Amino acid sequence: MRQVDHFIVGDSPAATRKHSIWNPSTGEVQAEVALGHAALLDKAVATAKKVQPEWAATNPQKRARVMFKFKELIEANMQSLAELLSSEHGKVIDDAKGDVQRGLEVIEYACGIPQVLKGEYTQGAGPGIDVYSMRQPLGIGAGITPFNFPAMIPMWMFGMACAAGNAFILKPSERDPSVPVRLAELFIEAGAPEGLLQVVHGDKEMVDAIIDHPDIPAISFVGSSDIAQYIYSRGTANAKRVQAFGGAKNHGIVMPDADLDQVVNDLAGAAFGSAGERCMALPVVVPVGEDTAEKLKEKLIPAINALRIGVSTDPDAHYGPVVTPEHKARIEQWITTAEEEGGEIVIDGRGYTLQGHENGFFVGPTLIDRVTPQMKSYQEEIFGPVLQMVRAKDFEEAVRLPSDHQYGNGVAIFTRNGHAAREFASRVQVGMVGVNVPIPVPVSYHSFGGWKRSGFGDIDQYGTEGLAFWTKLKKITQRWPDGGGDGSNAFVIPTMG
Ligand code: NAD
Repeated sequence: MRQVDHFIVGDSPAATRKHSIWNPSTGEVQAEVALGHAALLDKAVATAKKVQPEWAATNPQKRARVMFKFKELIEANMQSLAELLSSEHGKVIDDAKGDVQRGLEVIEYACGIPQVLKGEYTQGAGPGIDVYSMRQPLGIGAGITPFNFPAMIPMWMFGMACAAGNAFILKPSERDPSVPVRLAELFIEAGAPEGLLQVVHGDKEMVDAIIDHPDIPAISFVGSSDIAQYIYSRGTANAKRVQAFGGAKNHGIVMPDADLDQVVNDLAGAAFGSAGERCMALPVVVPVGEDTAEKLKEKLIPAINALRIGVSTDPDAHYGPVVTPEHKARIEQWITTAEEEGGEIVIDGRGYTLQGHENGFFVGPTLIDRVTPQMKSYQEEIFGPVLQMVRAKDFEEAVRLPSDHQYGNGVAIFTRNGHAAREFASRVQVGMVGVNVPIPVPVSYHSFGGWKRSGFGDIDQYGTEGLAFWTKLKKITQRWPDGGGDGSNAFVIPTMG
């Protein structure tokens, strides 16, 4: 059976524990990944400590050349990366290419590192005094990533961290760890020194070793909220810099004046694409007014029934299987819970099987109407191809629902009314807002991050925020007096006069 090993310099100690990697389309175990431990991490950290100072001292233009080369290599390997990714995750190939491409866009931003790393300078802040600032790398950064974007999220993290002069240790999801390893191989092939980017596999044991390691000053985490909060609490208690992004339950508000055909098309993709396993999916639709709800439902039903489910290599499939049998069972259990809570199951995806692939982890598309904020199935993340409809009586209720929800990752409003859209965008308590844009993931030169239980910590991912996270700001005040002193009293706090 194919073995997925750590990507570190030197030999990895033999694995005592392993984790099975499924092919979700067939329901077969296709590979095994070694699960690491603290001693393995120590080895990776020791290597990173050796290579990082020279990398940090390499001028930013030369570091940028590595990023440019890496971009070229990813583009040249796009098809094989997407195939490997989809075979372990289950998302369809075109969607897997999107996963790689959205990470690549952060690499493109990182190609501009000489420009964005330039500090600030004030000449003549006082007599003979200049003030300037510079951003310096932290040393060794670590990233702990989820299964649902095995290419994009690692690149968000190590792309920014390494371009800024850090070494990086990545701990990807043990469910689809092959693409992260492949990315690290390509990064070294692009000219990064061996050991600058290493991949260690593992579960809680490895994660705890990372959080407690004294030589790792900063951790970026993306995954579910309870674990995000745990990592944030334990990491910051260890005096580390931590950003930890969690789960989501994004709402799509449909105003009475929205173009419903467009909304149905957008919702089908945003709720069911990637089998709903996206933190920026739209699993809750909120039509405003009963009339809007009825019209929307009438159009949604045939659109959902027309969705095509297939194996991840099927070019005509809208979405593929979910990641594991446990996750399939969990999604189906949530549909049952919603039913028991009084939700109206309009389209039921439970018990779905794909002909010829009866052992695959497929879940049929599901539409649940008459969902209310009191229901557990509304409050929690389902992370599957399940769309819940919560009917709002007016605009105020539509602003309140996502604002009061425990998660605050993304939200979208569909309307032709500029005033309503502007009002909504300014008042809603959610980190990323789409106006007639169902999946408002910001471009790489802005920054990504949710609010409330979707994001712990103060600094977002990538863009200028990512740069701030992976660097520390040094502020220098210099004076070059012309001799003879300026007659000021050295015993009072200096001011600039
Ligand atoms: P997960 O929380 O199960 O795993 C994430 C990482 O944490 C993995 O690397 C895993 O090995 C590690 N981990 C698992 N259990 C752990 C434990 N007990 N202690 C320490 N570490 C542990 O998440 P997942 O199922 O891989 O990914 C899906 C989740 O990620 C969803 O909740 C989704 O919303 C969220 N997500 C959020 C964003 C965002 O930007 N907010 C983006 C993508 C995914």
